[in-house]
Amino acid sequence: MSRRWLLFVLVGVGFIASIIVSRLGLIDQYVELVAMYVGINIILALSLNLVNGYMGEFSVGHAGFMAVGAYGASILSVRVFPAWAGVWIFPLAIIAGGVMAGAAAVVVAIPSFRTRGDYLAIVTLSFNMIVKSALENIDAVGGPRGFLGMERLTTLPWTFMWTVVSVWAIRNFVYSNIGRGVLSIREDETAGAAMGVDTRKVKLHAFVVSSFFAGVAGGLYAHLLQFISPRTFDIIKSTEILIMVYLGGVGSIAGSIAGAVIYTVLIEALRVLGQWRMVIMPLMLVLLMIYRPKGIFGFTEFRWFKPIASKKKDVAVTAAELINMTPRTAADGGQLLVIDGLTHYFGGLCALSDFNLRLDAGQIIGIIGPNGSGKTTLFNLISGYYRPTRGSIKLNGTEITRMPPNEINSLGIARTFQNIRLFNNLTVEDNVKVGMFNSVKYSAVAAMLRTRSFNQCEGKEVSDCTRMLLELFALEKYAYEPAKGLPYGLKRRLEIVRALATRPQLLLLDEPAAGMNPSETGALMELVHRIRDEFKLTVMVIEHHMSFIMGLCEEIHVLDFGVTIAGGTPDEIKSDKKVIEAYLGSSGVSRALKDT
Ligand code: ADP
Ligand code: MG
Repeated sequence: MSRRWLLFVLVGVGFIASIIVSRLGLIDQYVELVAMYVGINIILALSLNLVNGYMGEFSVGHAGFMAVGAYGASILSVRVFPAWAGVWIFPLAIIAGGVMAGAAAVVVAIPSFRTRGDYLAIVTLSFNMIVKSALENIDAVGGPRGFLGMERLTTLPWTFMWTVVSVWAIRNFVYSNIGRGVLSIREDETAGAAMGVDTRKVKLHAFVVSSFFAGVAGGLYAHLLQFISPRTFDIIKSTEILIMVYLGGVGSIAGSIAGAVIYTVLIEALRVLGQWRMVIMPLMLVLLMIYRPKGIFGFTEFRWFKPIASKKKDVAVTAAELINMTPRTAADGGQLLVIDGLTHYFGGLCALSDFNLRLDAGQIIGIIGPNGSGKTTLFNLISGYYRPTRGSIKLNGTEITRMPPNEINSLGIARTFQNIRLFNNLTVEDNVKVGMFNSVKYSAVAAMLRTRSFNQCEGKEVSDCTRMLLELFALEKYAYEPAKGLPYGLKRRLEIVRALATRPQLLLLDEPAAGMNPSETGALMELVHRIRDEFKLTVMVIEHHMSFIMGLCEEIHVLDFGVTIAGGTPDEIKSDKKVIEAYLGSSGVSRALKDT
């Protein structure tokens, strides 16, 4: 039996068992109650883990979203729906509560676009406090006295079902295109944007999905306790959810489940200690943070929660097809990139001054110059990290000068970084898949429900193309290993492959041979030639290895203190007086120049 069917059967059996057990009263009521708390807490921990673990943000006001869902669902089931609607109104009320919490998340997500870490913690903390105070001041829902009148609609089978649905949907979200975007934000937001990840969209989705499920948990909780008050959802509740997440393991579904189970059971078991348990639990957390800061599971995931690796088959996609999968705008008069008068100041320092360039499709050009001469600044301007003080950059005739990095990438410019910026904790395969962010056409909802459009797109456009790329560049052996474990040379190579996965027209390589030995450099040169020939790419490369640059480039531009001091063929550059002068100070390079 395949794993999928086995899971299906297990869930079915569990569901039927939960019906029988609760109908016949086979277990102690208290045990049943704790089991339901466990389910609700699993949903809470998992949903918070999406933002705090997978995305690496620090949200501390999760109970605020829970409150919105709890009050929303309760108002619906008590006040809005008529009595004859019966039990079937319950799932609708729960979903509506989740939707309300999701809507509230939009408001919180916006500051998250600009702030991270401590600031986001303050924003979410404030949100939690605002929700609590608002509820205390609304008399229609009982103000500080609380809200009651809900029937006890949350049963063991309902809890079981909602827990399974939440685990399934959040797991599906994580293992999808947006999920990979979420992970890329945790690993390296800047690199993510360079690979075309729309970080705003991703953050918004993650916050909304996370809050939706917190709202669902709130609705279930309200219809279990049959009484809620603003104090139910204070900062202590938020802290409890945080403890579960960090206890179980950040960025692991199995971890969240384990954290929720252990915490809920322990807190009940420690009831005999009275007030002391409130000392013991935080103490446990402190010990955990010291000895196992990533929680019990850390980033590791239980095998069954991971997607089933597709069987190895011959990949039918060729390099040319891969590149052609994304339609391109035809080059405007043959010129791919046109830069005019590009100037950039850092305060009073002119890092790049009046830079001009006409780049034809299919060319390989080199940018050289001593350290600090503005080479990386030029790349950062082209790829959208800096907004130039003056000047314009056009790609295929389109002005891209002030566009954000992800949009520039989706128009066809990909880059690597001077200091390698891979997504270290993601596998080699997922690093490449992040690069395909914009070739994926299914929605987040389709991903959570695993619809056909999801399966087709993940199969062909994503998995096949990834495998093709990895095979083409001899990285398939490492596909399932975390990128941080790769040898140095392969890290550089993976970064180039990841950039190729974004299906660019123009590739910017910032010192790709830095730190490489001569044989590695030779292999890299071959690789860049192949990229140009097979992928029909235009390449701009910054390098200090003169033999590399001279052997590779048809045209070279020389920068010194931000000023272009020469431009021409390798032979012209080698004999240029100004170039030799500029390099005389940095003797290593001047020697290298003479050698070639
Ligand atoms: P290169 O890549 O040619 O070695 P850079 O483009 O990194 O040089 O830097 C050019 C100049 O701009 C240097 O003087 C550097 O100190 C300065 N610079 C680079 N980035 C920044 C920044 N973010 N803030 C201020 N100054 C910077
Ligand atoms: Mg540099």
